[in-house]
Amino acid sequence: MKVAKHTFDAVIVGAGGAGLRAALQLAEAGLRTAVLTKVFPTRSHTVAAQGGVAASLGNSTPDHWHWHMYDTVKGSDWLGDQDAIEFMVRKANEVVIELEHYGMPFDRTDEGKIYQRPFGGHSMNYGEAPVMRSCAAADRTGHAMLHALYQRNVRARTHFFVEWMALDLIRDSEGHVLGVTALELETGEVAIFHAKATIFATGGAGRIYHSSTNAFINTGDGLGMAARAGIPLEDMEFWQFHPTGVAGAGVLITEGVRGEGGILRNCNGERFMERYAPNLKDLASRDVVARAMVTEINEGRGCGPNKDYVLLDITHLSPEIIMKRLPGIREIAIQFAGVDPIKEPIPVVPTCHYMMGGIPTNYRGQVVMPKNGDPNAPVPGLYAAGECACASVHGANRLGTNSLLDLLVFGKASAETAVADIKSGNLSLRELPKDAAEVSLARLARLENQKEGEPVADVLLELQRTMQNHAGVFRFKDKLEEGVQKILAVEERVRRTAIRDHSKVWNTARMEALELENLIEVAKATMISAAARKESRGAHVRDDCPDTPEFPNGRNDKEWLKHTLWFRDGNRLEYKPVNLKPLNPDTQPIALAKRTY
Ligand SMILES: Cc1cc2nc3c(=O)[nH]c(=O)nc-3n(C[C@H](O)[C@H](O)[C@H](O)COP(=O)(O)OP(=O)(O)OC[C@H]3O[C@@H](n4cnc5c(N)ncnc54)[C@H](O)[C@@H]3O)c2cc1C
Repeated sequence: MKVAKHTFDAVIVGAGGAGLRAALQLAEAGLRTAVLTKVFPTRSHTVAAQGGVAASLGNSTPDHWHWHMYDTVKGSDWLGDQDAIEFMVRKANEVVIELEHYGMPFDRTDEGKIYQRPFGGHSMNYGEAPVMRSCAAADRTGHAMLHALYQRNVRARTHFFVEWMALDLIRDSEGHVLGVTALELETGEVAIFHAKATIFATGGAGRIYHSSTNAFINTGDGLGMAARAGIPLEDMEFWQFHPTGVAGAGVLITEGVRGEGGILRNCNGERFMERYAPNLKDLASRDVVARAMVTEINEGRGCGPNKDYVLLDITHLSPEIIMKRLPGIREIAIQFAGVDPIKEPIPVVPTCHYMMGGIPTNYRGQVVMPKNGDPNAPVPGLYAAGECACASVHGANRLGTNSLLDLLVFGKASAETAVADIKSGNLSLRELPKDAAEVSLARLARLENQKEGEPVADVLLELQRTMQNHAGVFRFKDKLEEGVQKILAVEERVRRTAIRDHSKVWNTARMEALELENLIEVAKATMISAAARKESRGAHVRDDCPDTPEFPNGRNDKEWLKHTLWFRDGNRLEYKPVNLKPLNPDTQPIALAKRTY
């Protein structure tokens, strides 16, 4: 097959918030910058973000980056790296105001400042009272952000390659990254993108679960490409489940519905959250509500013919309130659950929402991996930002609105590092190996020539069911161990999928088969890392590691306050230390307040 070649200073894979922010930095620095994306940039999953972006602007309540840092470290259940968290919260105001200057239509306070709303886990004075920290543009913050960033990129003359799917990383024998191979969906042609710097911003991988709030394109392609190129994946056992996804469809019903008075009920009509969280009830934190819902379902009090969901009831609210405050949610319920929530409750289940782990990076956006005794040695030429990266600012659990902030801060930082590396001469255009496209061409040839084999959809379903049943909201030792065997068996089947459509133009069957090869890497990393971590921490809650006086909430800091690294080669696991300065689980906020800068 003929392979065309494009040469740029930098190539970015992904045009969500992280990719667009990175591209802007590079293009405005005068570098030739290419952005590859599977979908039109403003259709990336960032478009779905509703709640807002965190920054301690203090426009409505007093706020301080110390408090934001404390909340984020605590929210991460101490697994977040504090150099990266400090960097992120200290940069927050700058990147949000920058975005405002790019034309982001934030809502306003009466004084004309950026409007901020409260959000779960964000507090004032080290946990004393809720704070208003989330900067929002109605319930369409991500949408507004993508449009502002895209338009700014058009102005900066970023080169967009829309509907191109990156296939594999190109690394030379010394481990330098030289770009990617990619498939043009419109023509079915493969090309090499040769660059001094490569930035991954490919987003999440929620599609490894059967029920997910994530877009269909969130298939973890960046993680699959990194894993195949020998780069480990970090902390993949940690996945956030949102309590209220529409049963069957997974589409998100925002926490705001319970904020307006929505109530969760089981098959007996009981408001069961009263038993689990007598004070906060339906507004307890995401993990508490999700676990309570799963317990109800597991104990036979779920609703529907299969007793596999619970109900979110707002029928006691007046139709006027619903139409005024929750119009989008009503539309989602009618479209995706077939119920009008004015008259009937909405069937909901905890749904996979966000991946805390990812490709390991430092706070400058460089991809890092163990080398010669250094656990964080940069991989030359490769950077990552956004949900595909693990900086790690979210540790074992992410606070709402910290992801959009992560995109802006680390999208910008990764590009700033790349600009500095290119301009200082540290990164040059290295010679491509002769077999640069070989791996990708072999993957395509396998699909082309496979005559007998299973349909991609069947194997995907088995993968998703295995993840949902064996590595879901609650985790059990036996189920995890069985899950490892099952997912390895699924991997065998992934290698033997066959597609019937062999046409070149817009062949979505081929694209889905290639995506499945990325999903399986993410699924293996998750299951194997989860089976190995023998404690409960953040979103990883094991039945055999319960709350005891010795290990509150099942967390075992003596043995497990460390990051997991999963290597594809032999499914090997390694661990690396967490950056615990200045806060640690014993000293808590005093260390931060007393710190001098
Ligand atoms: C429903 C929903 C609501 C949310 N609400 C909030 C919120 O209110 N606040 C908050 O902070 N966070 C929220 N989050 C989380 C947050 O929105 C995401 O983590 C974030 O938007 C991810 O951004 P990203 O730039 O990393 O990736 P994405 O926006 O997912 O973009 C990924 C990009 O990579 C491209 N891509 C992927 N693979 C390839 C490939 N092989 N080749 C070429 N291109 C590729 C895609 O085309 C896309 O352009 C929400 C998430 C969801 C799902």
